[in-house]
Amino acid sequence: MSKRVVYPGSFDPITLGHVDIIERLCRTFDEVVILIAQSSQKHSLFSIEERKELIQKSLLGPKNFQVDSFAGLTTDYMKKNNISLIVRGLRAVVDYEYELTMANINRKIAPEVETLLVFASPEYYFISSRAVKEVAVNGGPLEGLVPPGVIEPLKKKLRP
Ligand code: ADP
Repeated sequence: MSKRVVYPGSFDPITLGHVDIIERLCRTFDEVVILIAQSSQKHSLFSIEERKELIQKSLLGPKNFQVDSFAGLTTDYMKKNNISLIVRGLRAVVDYEYELTMANINRKIAPEVETLLVFASPEYYFISSRAVKEVAVNGGPLEGLVPPGVIEPLKKKLRP
Protein backbone atom coordinates (compact mmCIF):
# COMPACT_ATOMS: atom_id res chain seq x y z
CA MET A 1 0.00 0.00 0.00
CA SER A 2 1.39 3.41 -0.86
CA LYS A 3 1.86 5.79 2.04
CA ARG A 4 0.34 9.24 1.71
CA VAL A 5 0.83 11.89 4.37
CA VAL A 6 -0.60 15.33 4.99
CA TYR A 7 1.64 18.24 6.01
CA PRO A 8 -0.77 20.96 7.15
CA GLY A 9 0.09 24.57 7.93
CA SER A 10 -0.49 28.21 7.16
CA PHE A 11 2.51 28.59 4.81
CA ASP A 12 2.02 32.37 4.93
CA PRO A 13 4.48 32.37 3.19
CA ILE A 14 6.46 29.16 2.64
CA THR A 15 9.98 29.39 4.14
CA LEU A 16 13.18 27.41 3.67
CA GLY A 17 12.25 25.54 6.87
CA HIS A 18 9.03 24.31 5.26
CA VAL A 19 10.89 23.41 2.05
CA ASP A 20 13.40 21.34 4.02
CA ILE A 21 10.63 19.40 5.79
CA ILE A 22 8.72 18.84 2.53
CA GLU A 23 11.81 17.57 0.68
CA ARG A 24 12.58 15.17 3.53
CA LEU A 25 8.97 13.94 3.57
CA CYS A 26 9.01 13.41 -0.19
CA ARG A 27 12.07 11.18 0.22
CA THR A 28 10.40 9.22 3.03
CA PHE A 29 6.82 8.78 1.81
CA ASP A 30 5.17 7.94 -1.51
CA GLU A 31 3.03 11.05 -1.65
CA VAL A 32 2.94 14.27 0.36
CA VAL A 33 -0.13 16.51 0.48
CA ILE A 34 0.78 20.04 1.50
CA LEU A 35 -2.43 21.29 3.03
CA ILE A 36 -2.95 25.02 3.37
CA ALA A 37 -5.23 25.35 6.36
CA GLN A 38 -7.70 28.18 5.92
CA SER A 39 -7.89 29.32 9.50
CA SER A 40 -10.84 31.40 10.60
CA GLN A 41 -8.77 32.75 13.50
CA LYS A 42 -5.65 33.87 11.68
CA HIS A 43 -5.36 36.89 9.46
CA SER A 44 -3.15 35.97 6.51
CA LEU A 45 -0.87 38.09 4.36
CA PHE A 46 -1.12 35.99 1.19
CA SER A 47 -4.36 34.58 -0.24
CA ILE A 48 -4.76 30.82 -0.55
CA GLU A 49 -4.12 31.04 -4.32
CA GLU A 50 -0.96 33.12 -3.80
CA ARG A 51 0.32 30.71 -1.15
CA LYS A 52 -0.36 27.75 -3.46
CA GLU A 53 1.59 29.41 -6.26
CA LEU A 54 4.54 30.27 -3.98
CA ILE A 55 4.67 26.69 -2.71
CA GLN A 56 4.58 25.24 -6.26
CA LYS A 57 7.39 27.42 -7.52
CA SER A 58 9.55 26.84 -4.40
CA LEU A 59 9.67 23.05 -4.78
CA LEU A 60 11.92 22.39 -7.74
CA GLY A 61 13.20 18.93 -6.79
CA PRO A 62 10.46 16.58 -5.62
CA LYS A 63 7.58 15.51 -7.83
CA ASN A 64 5.56 13.39 -5.41
CA PHE A 65 3.64 16.20 -3.72
CA GLN A 66 0.42 18.06 -4.26
CA VAL A 67 -0.88 21.28 -2.77
CA ASP A 68 -4.41 21.53 -1.49
CA SER A 69 -6.38 23.79 0.84
CA PHE A 70 -9.17 23.18 3.30
CA ALA A 71 -11.36 25.41 5.43
CA GLY A 72 -12.44 22.88 8.07
CA LEU A 73 -10.74 20.59 10.57
CA THR A 74 -7.62 18.87 9.29
CA THR A 75 -9.01 15.59 10.64
CA ASP A 76 -12.10 16.01 8.43
CA TYR A 77 -9.84 16.50 5.41
CA MET A 78 -7.98 13.32 6.41
CA LYS A 79 -11.18 11.29 6.66
CA LYS A 80 -12.54 12.68 3.41
CA ASN A 81 -9.38 11.71 1.58
CA ASN A 82 -8.72 8.49 3.44
CA ILE A 83 -5.28 9.53 4.74
CA SER A 84 -4.26 8.58 8.27
CA LEU A 85 -0.97 10.38 8.93
CA ILE A 86 -0.47 14.08 9.74
CA VAL A 87 3.12 15.32 9.81
CA ARG A 88 4.16 18.47 11.62
CA GLY A 89 7.57 20.07 12.04
CA LEU A 90 9.11 20.65 15.47
CA ARG A 91 11.55 23.51 15.91
CA ALA A 92 12.40 24.53 19.47
CA VAL A 93 10.78 23.62 22.78
CA VAL A 94 8.17 26.35 22.27
CA ASP A 95 6.60 24.31 19.46
CA TYR A 96 6.31 21.25 21.66
CA GLU A 97 3.38 22.26 23.84
CA TYR A 98 1.28 23.49 20.92
CA GLU A 99 1.98 20.39 18.84
CA LEU A 100 1.29 18.09 21.80
CA THR A 101 -2.05 19.79 22.39
CA MET A 102 -3.01 19.66 18.70
CA ALA A 103 -2.00 16.01 18.39
CA ASN A 104 -4.08 15.10 21.44
CA ILE A 105 -7.13 17.07 20.31
CA ASN A 106 -6.88 15.38 16.93
CA ARG A 107 -6.52 11.98 18.57
CA LYS A 108 -9.62 12.67 20.66
CA ILE A 109 -11.80 13.71 17.72
CA ALA A 110 -10.32 11.28 15.20
CA PRO A 111 -8.57 8.31 16.86
CA GLU A 112 -7.76 6.78 13.47
CA VAL A 113 -5.52 9.74 12.56
CA GLU A 114 -1.91 9.61 13.78
CA THR A 115 0.43 12.61 14.16
CA LEU A 116 4.11 12.33 13.39
CA LEU A 117 6.60 15.06 14.38
CA VAL A 118 9.72 15.74 12.34
CA PHE A 119 12.60 17.73 13.81
CA ALA A 120 13.65 20.91 12.02
CA SER A 121 17.14 20.80 10.52
CA PRO A 122 19.65 22.80 12.59
CA GLU A 123 20.24 25.31 9.78
CA TYR A 124 16.52 26.17 9.61
CA TYR A 125 15.14 25.67 13.11
CA PHE A 126 14.94 29.42 13.83
CA ILE A 127 12.93 30.29 10.71
CA SER A 128 9.21 31.02 10.96
CA SER A 129 6.79 32.75 8.59
CA ARG A 130 6.12 35.31 11.30
CA ALA A 131 9.83 36.19 11.75
CA VAL A 132 10.33 36.36 8.00
CA LYS A 133 7.46 38.87 7.70
CA GLU A 134 9.03 40.94 10.47
CA VAL A 135 12.34 41.02 8.59
CA ALA A 136 10.54 41.91 5.35
CA VAL A 137 8.43 44.70 6.81
CA ASN A 138 11.60 46.34 8.12
CA GLY A 139 13.48 45.99 4.85
CA GLY A 140 15.94 43.33 6.04
CA PRO A 141 17.60 40.71 3.80
CA LEU A 142 15.42 37.70 3.03
CA GLU A 143 18.04 35.51 1.34
CA GLY A 144 18.57 32.28 3.28
CA LEU A 145 15.18 32.59 4.96
CA VAL A 146 12.69 32.04 2.13
CA PRO A 147 12.99 30.42 -1.31
CA PRO A 148 14.25 32.85 -3.99
CA GLY A 149 10.82 33.07 -5.67
CA VAL A 150 9.20 34.27 -2.44
CA ILE A 151 11.51 37.28 -1.89
CA GLU A 152 9.95 39.70 -4.37
CA PRO A 153 6.27 38.83 -3.66
CA LEU A 154 7.00 39.29 0.06
CA LYS A 155 8.68 42.64 -0.47
CA LYS A 156 5.83 43.80 -2.71
CA LYS A 157 3.22 42.88 -0.10
CA LEU A 158 4.97 44.48 2.83
CA ARG A 159 6.88 47.39 1.28
CA PRO A 160 4.87 48.27 -1.83
P1 ADP B 1 0.84 26.73 11.55
O1 ADP B 1 0.21 28.10 11.55
O2 ADP B 1 -0.15 25.63 11.39
O3 ADP B 1 1.82 26.48 12.66
P2 ADP B 1 3.10 27.11 9.77
O4 ADP B 1 3.04 27.37 8.31
O5 ADP B 1 3.66 28.17 10.63
O6 ADP B 1 1.63 26.71 10.16
O7 ADP B 1 3.90 25.77 10.02
C1 ADP B 1 3.49 24.55 9.47
C2 ADP B 1 4.31 23.43 10.10
O8 ADP B 1 5.67 23.59 9.72
C3 ADP B 1 4.29 23.42 11.62
O9 ADP B 1 4.31 22.09 12.07
C4 ADP B 1 5.57 24.13 11.99
O10 ADP B 1 6.06 23.70 13.25
C5 ADP B 1 6.48 23.65 10.87
N1 ADP B 1 7.57 24.58 10.61
C6 ADP B 1 7.50 25.91 10.43
N2 ADP B 1 8.71 26.43 10.24
C7 ADP B 1 9.60 25.39 10.31
C8 ADP B 1 11.03 25.28 10.23
N3 ADP B 1 11.80 26.35 10.09
N4 ADP B 1 11.56 24.05 10.33
C9 ADP B 1 10.78 22.97 10.53
N5 ADP B 1 9.44 23.01 10.66
C10 ADP B 1 8.85 24.20 10.54
